[in-house]
Amino acid sequence: MFDISKIRSQFPILQRKINDKKLVYFDNGASTQKLQSVIDTVSNYYKEENSNVHRGVHFLSGLATDKFEESRDVIREFLGAKHTHEIIFTKGTTDSINLVANGFRSLLKKGDEIIISELEHHSNIVPWQMCCEYSGAVLKIIPLKDNGELEINEFESLLSKKTKLVAISHVSNSLGTINPIKEFIEKSHKVGAKVLIDGAQAASHISLNMQELDVDMYCFSAHKMYGPTGVGVLYGKEDILNEIPPYQGGGEMIKDVSFEKTTYACLPHKFEAGTPNIAGVIAFKSAIDFISDLGLNTIYEHENYLLDYATKEILKIEGIKIYGTSESKSGIISFNIDGIHPYDIGVLLDKMGIAIRTGNHCTQPIMERFNIPGTARISLAIYNTKEEIDVCMAAIKKAKQMLS
Ligand SMILES: *Cc1c(COP(=O)(O)O)cnc(C)c1O
Repeated sequence: MFDISKIRSQFPILQRKINDKKLVYFDNGASTQKLQSVIDTVSNYYKEENSNVHRGVHFLSGLATDKFEESRDVIREFLGAKHTHEIIFTKGTTDSINLVANGFRSLLKKGDEIIISELEHHSNIVPWQMCCEYSGAVLKIIPLKDNGELEINEFESLLSKKTKLVAISHVSNSLGTINPIKEFIEKSHKVGAKVLIDGAQAASHISLNMQELDVDMYCFSAHKMYGPTGVGVLYGKEDILNEIPPYQGGGEMIKDVSFEKTTYACLPHKFEAGTPNIAGVIAFKSAIDFISDLGLNTIYEHENYLLDYATKEILKIEGIKIYGTSESKSGIISFNIDGIHPYDIGVLLDKMGIAIRTGNHCTQPIMERFNIPGTARISLAIYNTKEEIDVCMAAIKKAKQMLS
């Protein structure tokens, strides 16, 4: 059934040695490794199929267009979205959020409110600060509890008729907390606010259904899902995407252009100005196929088993503190060791072939909340194993000895 060696054999980089040691890759929250099928699809596209999309009458342009649009439909199915034109291709999560924030600002007036949370990635903070600065709207922040969960009661007290948008992440990249987004969405809709979910840390770990969630907008990046860099998705309900003005002007996004008046193309093209990352979008389908074939329930189970095991093992090390201890967690362990800087742990682990991330993880407000400079972070993916966790735990113990 679940054959981990068969899964690992599909990721060529996992065979690599780093510093003469077998690579243990635990930095999946920053970017996952790439499937052979994704690499092959990119390479084959440039060798056999390359041409621009939606433009030419010739054979190759038709082929590239068909494959590009096939990816869109596969993603619609993956998300359980109603319409294929509700799937917008972007450069990534950051680009998707900026697209919305840039358009949404013209729908806001002075005194309107946007709610985000204390656990957001910088890319779900800064675009809203810019949006508020432009529109005169006010940014409100849902505070964080000590265990890394959001204060739902505080959220409810922030909600009012003034709330126009709530933007929160599905899973925290720093703490691993899985936010109860369905509850957030229902409560937001009661006051008439729209909801955008940053799903960058969720889409390759948790099964998603846009219609069941009744979410207005949802975004994620292909490169955190075993797919290529430079490709992301913005899902949006048709009516809200029709309401938001386009972010960029150019080719492909127009119906008619004249110096008197230009009219925009219909969805999804209205938001896809210029030549997109065609190879990346087509190869993203190979990654989605891999995830769908395996099944997100299987993926979740495996990663959750590893998370439980790693949490239990790491807590045996004296002086360890884990940040993010919610019952509802994804495969992320952020930690510090008493008296040791996280950067030093990262450097020593790297010498032993283990890739983790250290620092603030693009979430400075969380670090401020816990009054720390940063953490060391282990983030898991489907190809990780129990043996790798054992290797990592031994390495952490060794690093601790060397540093204290
Ligand atoms: C990685 C990440 C982002 C940014 O994604 P990009 O691919 O760099 O645009 C945003 N939010 C969260 C929670 C992330 O983990």
